[in-house]
Amino acid sequence: MREIETDYLVVGAGASGMAFADALVATSDAEVVLVDRRHRPGGHWVDAYPFVRLHQPSAYYGVSSRMLGQNRIDDHGPNAGLYERATAAEIVDYFNRVLEEDLIPTGRVRFFGMCDYCGADSDGHQFVSLLTGAPTRVRVRRKTVDATYIESSIPSRHTPGFVIDPDVRVIPPNGLVDLGEPASGFTIVGAGKTAMDTCAWLLDAGVDPNQIRWIRCRDGWFFNRAYTQPLDLVAWFMQLQARFVEHAASCDGPRSFADGLAADGVFLRIDPSVEPEVFRGATLSQPELDTLRQIDDVVRLGRVRRIGTQRITFDDAELPNNENQVFVDCTAAGVRRVESRPVFGHDRITMQYVTIGVAPWSAATIATVEASDRDDERRNQLCPPVPFTGEASEILHLLFAGLTGSLARGAEPDLAAWEERCRLNPGRGAADHLDDPQVQSAFESLMTNAGPALLNLEQLTT
Ligand SMILES: Cc1cc2nc3c(=O)[nH]c(=O)nc-3n(C[C@H](O)[C@H](O)[C@H](O)COP(=O)(O)OP(=O)(O)OC[C@H]3O[C@@H](n4cnc5c(N)ncnc54)[C@H](O)[C@@H]3O)c2cc1C
Repeated sequence: MREIETDYLVVGAGASGMAFADALVATSDAEVVLVDRRHRPGGHWVDAYPFVRLHQPSAYYGVSSRMLGQNRIDDHGPNAGLYERATAAEIVDYFNRVLEEDLIPTGRVRFFGMCDYCGADSDGHQFVSLLTGAPTRVRVRRKTVDATYIESSIPSRHTPGFVIDPDVRVIPPNGLVDLGEPASGFTIVGAGKTAMDTCAWLLDAGVDPNQIRWIRCRDGWFFNRAYTQPLDLVAWFMQLQARFVEHAASCDGPRSFADGLAADGVFLRIDPSVEPEVFRGATLSQPELDTLRQIDDVVRLGRVRRIGTQRITFDDAELPNNENQVFVDCTAAGVRRVESRPVFGHDRITMQYVTIGVAPWSAATIATVEASDRDDERRNQLCPPVPFTGEASEILHLLFAGLTGSLARGAEPDLAAWEERCRLNPGRGAADHLDDPQVQSAFESLMTNAGPALLNLEQLTT
């Protein structure tokens, strides 16, 4: 059996594993072995539907050491006036270049694609080639990094949770580009980012809104993408932070917090008459929202249980179906609910969100804290997991953990200086824009409200 040694064994070479490896190599002399079941780095983006884009700007996605895209502001389309967003193809090419052109040439990083990590026993860790079955034993000198813990659930690798009768056409969004023949109509099943992308893509491609039926069992809150802008537009992001702490300081629960953000235009929902139950941190631009609102046939009958040629069955209701209807399964969770656990253990790191959104920024933060001269107890105090459960009712828990970690790291000069340099930090460089009244007022608000926000959140969440 092949035997190798390394300082860090990183299982999963998605955005989290790659951002972790990049930041660790930049801030330490560690050696890293990356293992992934997929043939190349990039994680879920490798199998994403072809019309997907990042929902945040490329300017702060990827790894810290290399730009993704050109930091260009789009001048047309639904993202006009906002920073560009990479396609899946661009992201996959980017991660491949990071690996081939940056990480491997350091001589400290090795990548094993098409390999399944099988766990550890007293002889060490083991992974197996999915092509040959050949096992490799790994002796890990420092830590194993589980960069699969927040692995995304995506349509092309997901089994729908409802029964599909023979002769019913149910496809993942990936299948829309290979449809072959026109459909009498499209039924989109799902209420999240994938479903929104699919509806918007069909409408942009010329499908009449009346040909689209949208089964949304629960509605969601979304960030107004304008408020997630970095760099020259960082005043928007700073205003988002200011609104967050103001409402966190004064709200009496998750609903009033979200309603406050909606009144300010920071949070959006598709149908203002429906109370959102879901929050997964996805973003929408105002033009995208206007597009989605063209779809009138929205079905709110709960979860789909069975799709037959004649009828669709829900828990307590049925709807007639018609022939040649194409169903698009958008029910994969994307960002999954996971149980929070300490990030740092003596021989293990469990990758989770430690920032509010932006998975790569979390991973790079974890690597930088790991590479610093602190013990694991202190590292865990600096990086409390931010629980993305997907439930709007639990948004204050997420906010409390995110704010606690952010304030703790900001009080450590080495970490604050690193955050200010890290391109994955959406607020990077804000202090250089203090001549902008929006940035100045945001800083003032953060200084006034961060303390009261923490106190209020603590009371409301414990
Ligand atoms: C459509 C979509 C759009 C998104 N847009 C954004 C965005 O704009 N901004 C943002 O911050 N987040 C976004 N996300 C969230 C996304 O989860 C993160 O950005 C990020 O890509 C997650 O990376 P990951 O490495 O944690 O997980 P993944 O990309 O799922 O990677 C995990 C990897 O682990 C590998 N693996 C699992 N088990 C094993 C094993 N036993 N052995 C070996 N390998 C294994 C898998 O093959 C996979 O490659 C989006 C998610 C989706 C689905």
